[in-house]
Amino acid sequence: MKTWLAIPLWQRVIAALVLGIIVGLLWGPGAESIKIVGDIFIAFIKMLVVPLIFFSLVAGVAAIGDLRKLGSVGGRALLIFVVTGQIAVWLGLGLGSLFQPGIGLDTSAIEMGPVPEPTAMTWQDMLLGMVPQSPVQVMADVNVLPLIIFSLLIGIGILMAKDEGLPVQRIFDSGSIVMQKVTAVVMELTPFGVFALMAWVAGTVGVPALLALGKLVALNYAGCLLIIIIMYAGIIKFLAKLPVIPFFRGIVDAQAVAYSTASSNATLPVTMRCVERNLGVSRSVTSFTTSLGATINMDGTAMYLGLATLFGAQVFGVDLSTGDYLTIAVLATLGSVGAAGIPGAGLIMMAAIFTAVNVPLETIAFVAGVDRIMDMMRTVTNVTGDAAVAVTVGSMTGEIDREEMASADDV
Ligand code: ASP
Repeated sequence: MKTWLAIPLWQRVIAALVLGIIVGLLWGPGAESIKIVGDIFIAFIKMLVVPLIFFSLVAGVAAIGDLRKLGSVGGRALLIFVVTGQIAVWLGLGLGSLFQPGIGLDTSAIEMGPVPEPTAMTWQDMLLGMVPQSPVQVMADVNVLPLIIFSLLIGIGILMAKDEGLPVQRIFDSGSIVMQKVTAVVMELTPFGVFALMAWVAGTVGVPALLALGKLVALNYAGCLLIIIIMYAGIIKFLAKLPVIPFFRGIVDAQAVAYSTASSNATLPVTMRCVERNLGVSRSVTSFTTSLGATINMDGTAMYLGLATLFGAQVFGVDLSTGDYLTIAVLATLGSVGAAGIPGAGLIMMAAIFTAVNVPLETIAFVAGVDRIMDMMRTVTNVTGDAAVAVTVGSMTGEIDREEMASADDV
């Protein structure tokens, strides 16, 4: 018999995921008692986020050696983020109009959750929030976007310092390797964390609410699957010109962690590891695109925001004009960019969109009880998108080891 460690990690993780669901369904609400194991796992991977981004992004920028190349990596990544985000939003709007999940809803079975206050975030606040005015504070708050900017600047400083920057560059190179080793150790906790989180979700999900909102949940899953299977697979095949199956094989771990934690940020260390190690993308491109993607590239969330707004309009009989659809598309795009990569972020973003097109905020209370189940799939989509963009940009800029990618095997 194989020993535990000899079984590829992704197989252990998938087995844990399935087993967790089964145990949770059999155990019921009591499964909440093992959630602590999942929380500990999440706390450990969150621990990696700041040092991993900091070391690998600085090392990555310094290694790329040429600021023009960095610009072309960033420009391409941003372009793909924007285009795929738009497709996702309109897919959500299309699914919502076609299948009308809010019509004929039996609201009696739904336990209302709290209604969040719409956050009035101005673009000035958003811009200012990206400036790492206190790098220590940014790290303490695990605030990814300003951390990326800080790391980019340090990397650029190293390049500008030329020979005198070399000792610092070496520290970051070595630090990023050390952080990869630490990530590998923490990832051994994945099967246990995933098992506990899945048992908790499966054991505590409100079945009546799930049945009542079944159509919305099913559309959320269908939309996400379409994005993954058609859009991302298409990008990999036609834009990156790489084989699709090894891509999906290489990111199974990240997808399982995304599904069980519902957090792109918490999954980031695993996404980075999969993209760099299994898919052969260079450290520079991996660290830049995946960390940026974890905060601003959320196609699953964008699709869902469109879908959920139509759902709310249908439940409460709000007529939407063509202008409203455009408003929703713009705000859903901004909402998916502004949403933090944490559980339930999409739910909070809904409030601003609903207010803009006069959909009652009570809609959020309706969906809150089943949001986790939908959030898990949105997060898988978001994380898969980050990996797809990393691989594509890697391929376009010659920063990928094609052979390694094609033979994507386990970590
Ligand atoms: N939880 C999602 C993520 O971390 C965001 C969302 O709520 O849609 O990617």
